[in-house]
Amino acid sequence: MDASDELRSLEATGIYRLAGSRAAFVDPVRLLGESYRRFRLVPSAYYSRSFGPSRQGGEAQAEGTAPSPDRKKRKRKRQTKARELNAVERIAEARHQEARPLLISAHNSLLDAKYLLEYLPGMIKGDECRPELETSSENNFVELGGSWRAPFYEMTICFQKPLGQDEAGTCDVQKRSSPLFNRVVRVEENGEAEGEFQGRLYVLPKGSCFMMTDFTHVRDLIPDNPNTGYNLIVIDPPWENGCVRQKEAYPTLPNRNLLYLPVQELAHPAGALVVLWITNREKLRRFVEEELLPSWGVKDPTEFYWLKVKSDGSLIGDLDLFHHRPYECLLLGYINNREAESGSKFKVLQGSQVIMSVPGAHSRKPPLQKILSEYIPGPKPPRCIELFARELGSGWTSWGNEPLHFQDSAYFSKK
Ligand code: SAM
Repeated sequence: MDASDELRSLEATGIYRLAGSRAAFVDPVRLLGESYRRFRLVPSAYYSRSFGPSRQGGEAQAEGTAPSPDRKKRKRKRQTKARELNAVERIAEARHQEARPLLISAHNSLLDAKYLLEYLPGMIKGDECRPELETSSENNFVELGGSWRAPFYEMTICFQKPLGQDEAGTCDVQKRSSPLFNRVVRVEENGEAEGEFQGRLYVLPKGSCFMMTDFTHVRDLIPDNPNTGYNLIVIDPPWENGCVRQKEAYPTLPNRNLLYLPVQELAHPAGALVVLWITNREKLRRFVEEELLPSWGVKDPTEFYWLKVKSDGSLIGDLDLFHHRPYECLLLGYINNREAESGSKFKVLQGSQVIMSVPGAHSRKPPLQKILSEYIPGPKPPRCIELFARELGSGWTSWGNEPLHFQDSAYFSKK
């Protein structure tokens, strides 16, 4: 494929594979958009943080001469440089140095993809202007779910059923009410729905499923029949972390609580790919590798990186900034991997890869199903679940204390 084919592929599929590197650039808006027929995600609402062009152009970040991170971070970098690293920091630095050549090579191939770089600013702006999201008027599901009223809250779900094959596409509108918290809510396979709750509308993709509960109810997700287990399990825990606390973005959980996540019980007997987002803290990394993944039955994980770029292709911060790396790590590994015996086809993960994108809201991760599709064991299409989710998707079960957060209709426009 040449560069213009790849660009067409990005427009059609949301993925641009960068030639000559183990890296791909993705457009989450396009990828998420595949779950919707009557709605589209508004790019300016997704790319809500201002990752505008850097003042020094797109070059050189990977060489260590990055565009200006803010003053506080620079000061912190000077301070970290000025003092000797302690033993744990030295391990973290060695890990970073190991990843660096792959990250630099991925970023350089992005900077070499001239067509893609020209395309990015338009991709982020989209063609419709949207006022700032009024986050203050959005429902706070974490608070509502913790109140004594939670068992009484209901969502009115409105389905549009096509009335046969007529050209006008006439629909019959049906409504039902469903308890909102502590229950599994399923949207039918053949039509997306709109949910109404406390004066706000939520767009619910066809074939999606969610359960909005606190961690204490997570075992309700375990399927009665193991054959309805999951082949892709994505987990993005609310790790205890100073940045989240400062921003009061969402509540965090003590890391050791995650030992009680029933990941093994959720896995499909024919195999599951488990993906765990982690932070760059070395202590956490040790806990995950030595205790958490083994307790879930995941062995020998492969590491992927999510490298965050601005709309001009430059990194969102200095690659070598010790406490604020412009990338996050995800560990991927298998449970019940018996595909070799059953003869079903999938590629076993081998070696690290880099996924690049322009980040959306704080802590919002790019969608992974499509980019990982060839590595997922078991029946096709795979059954997918996201733990600690903040959005829904067709073919996914989304669980957490606010899985409807990004389904608010403010993030969408009607087609
Ligand atoms: N993957 C998500 C995304 O891309 O937007 C971000 C997930 S965020 C790191 C962690 C989520 O876990 C937050 O929505 C947070 O409210 C939720 N969470 C925190 N404590 C929880 C608990 N006790 N039970 C269930 N969910 C919890």
